[in-house]
Amino acid sequence: MTHPRIAFIGAGNMAASLIGGLLARGVPTARIVASEPHAEQRQRIAAEHGIAVLEDNAAAAAGADIVVLAVKPQVMKDVCLALAPALPQGALVVSIAAGIPCASLERWLGEQAIVRCMPNTPSLLREGASGLYANARTSAAQREQAGELLGAVGLALWLDEEAQIDAVTAVSGSGPAYFFLLMEAMSAAGQRLGLDAATASLLARQTALGAARMALESDVDPAELRRRVTSPKGTTEAAINAFQAGGFEALVDQALHAAAHRSAQLA
Ligand code: NAD
Repeated sequence: MTHPRIAFIGAGNMAASLIGGLLARGVPTARIVASEPHAEQRQRIAAEHGIAVLEDNAAAAAGADIVVLAVKPQVMKDVCLALAPALPQGALVVSIAAGIPCASLERWLGEQAIVRCMPNTPSLLREGASGLYANARTSAAQREQAGELLGAVGLALWLDEEAQIDAVTAVSGSGPAYFFLLMEAMSAAGQRLGLDAATASLLARQTALGAARMALESDVDPAELRRRVTSPKGTTEAAINAFQAGGFEALVDQALHAAAHRSAQLA
């Protein structure tokens, strides 16, 4: 099997996790190259992953089948405008930058196959969740390649419409922070109930992991799992009743709408 040649423009956290995921999936080091302006970061990524890390973006992109734009959104326009003349014809461009629509990338890069992705931070541990949207110029084979790229760091799901990226941002992009908030609140409540800080925090975090694994590994949905652990007049029912009396579902709905609205504003 021939692996596509992949160039990462920007070798920061997200690029490093994707590179690590690809190598773990058996992509040879010689098929991956990156570019990065900071010498220290260049050396770190080259030493850690055994790939070539260049200073020049255009040199990295030369001959690539897939060019992954992994720079911060603020520098994306300048990076694209400078890179456009050097993009190999027919290359697939994958952007992981938050808030940059395909239309902007097309304006800066010209007529390219573009896949826009919204990954999340657990991608750093290969437990990510990403939504992907492909523009009309992207072929079926390129879609498959982009799916494999993001799939190397977790779940990768295709979207039919670019606007759905805002919903993905609200659910999974920003989602890890909601679970952190719940862990913080559970840990604080545990302390007020008499546990020491370390015990309360560990119990909250391990419970989140256990619940997530049960929800993912079971063939019934979370609502049914919840019903199964909620005995009539029991402790869990007392807590769930308190959550619902406080408008928990409406609050979550409001929070996710706020995130989606902000995501649409940024684009
Ligand atoms: P990062 O700062 O770790 O990485 C960006 C890298 O780009 C840095 O190493 C920086 O030196 C390099 N860079 C700066 N200017 C450059 C230039 N002109 N040419 C080439 N490289 C340049 O950031 P990150 O967390 O890896 O995020 C990268 C992108 O991924 C962002 O656009 C962000 O929106 C997106 N993203 C990240 C996450 C995440 O979980 N970290 C989640 C979703 C989306």
